[in-house]
Amino acid sequence: MERLLIDLGEDSYYIDIDEDLLEIMDKAIDSGDKIVLITDKNVDNLYGKAIEKFLKDKKPYKITIPPGEKSKTMATVEYILSQMLDCGLTRNSKVIALGGGVVGDIAGFSASIYMRGIDFVQVPTTLLAQVDSSVGGKTGINMPAGKNTVGSFYQPKAVLIDTKVLKTLPKRELISGIGEVIKYGIIYDDMFLNDIKNEFEAILKLDYKVMKKVIRRCCEIKAAIVSQDEKEKGIRKILNFGHTIGHGLEAITNYKKYTHGEAVIIGMYYEAKLAKSLGYIKETYFKEITDIIHKTEVSLDITMLSLEDLTHAMIKDKKNRGEKISFILPIDKGKVKEVLLFPNEVMW
Ligand code: ADP
Ligand code: ZN
Repeated sequence: MERLLIDLGEDSYYIDIDEDLLEIMDKAIDSGDKIVLITDKNVDNLYGKAIEKFLKDKKPYKITIPPGEKSKTMATVEYILSQMLDCGLTRNSKVIALGGGVVGDIAGFSASIYMRGIDFVQVPTTLLAQVDSSVGGKTGINMPAGKNTVGSFYQPKAVLIDTKVLKTLPKRELISGIGEVIKYGIIYDDMFLNDIKNEFEAILKLDYKVMKKVIRRCCEIKAAIVSQDEKEKGIRKILNFGHTIGHGLEAITNYKKYTHGEAVIIGMYYEAKLAKSLGYIKETYFKEITDIIHKTEVSLDITMLSLEDLTHAMIKDKKNRGEKISFILPIDKGKVKEVLLFPNEVMW
């Protein structure tokens, strides 16, 4: 097992990286008067029976939601909260989120408001959730006005990661997570970026030892960043590399054409290109970045989309200031900074 401390003072917790989901569930369940397991239908179909069998004595309550982003609504929160009340959960009970980012976000948000907050443990089952959304304490849901527009900062009591559950993850979802993995290398750790390049095949094959190392390094980097800036006021912004354009792409395609990570991969490519055009990075480093981006085999062709729509979507982003669009651009190996640009200064 690999253990990592997320140092947030009173809110500190451990991330454990393991390889046995059942052991993990056993650990997750070891305290709390009543336990509720929140998961989605896909994950339940894959792992629900084995978990129930294994935990037959301490059998937790289970709430299953439909898979996918469309579940991240206030209506689902209401459903979860009323189920929690029906089960008689108290302030000493515990919520375990078993699933990808969707389950983590909605279970975390529900836990944060149930009786003004009850304990919550994350068991992320997608690579994206293991390296990104389960670390940092953001929870939330979508509203008609936009994604993640309602939510809370709420830290879990623990994050328990099983690398083996990634074996059942569809390839596209794996690549999506790899997008965020590459991001950490570019924003924070050039040696790690090199490791990712050299071990790309092993990552695709989910080589257990390599995955453990990769997931650990991503969590370490994210933890180092968020512990300096828990409420997203400063340095945490650097995590948005690839996301200004990525979010724009997701928005103008109604969140249907790309997975989040695919949009981020394309976003990183065009943002790195922008950094090169503006003279922040040299051609050689740009090529290093693009070499690894090409390994994901995500198509970088966006000519079928309207640049005008894309620019318009980026202008609306809540992270902007005034008339300018906020970009996080690479300025050196393992280094990025915020650059504010007028829409007409953006080069493609
Ligand atoms: P993300 O984690 O990418 O934010 P989701 O929570 O929507 O997004 O998960 C992506 C998809 O993968 C969902 O359909 C979910 O049910 C499915 N899923 C999650 N974990 C696994 C797994 N270990 N094996 C197979 N499918 C999974
Ligand atoms: Zn992201």
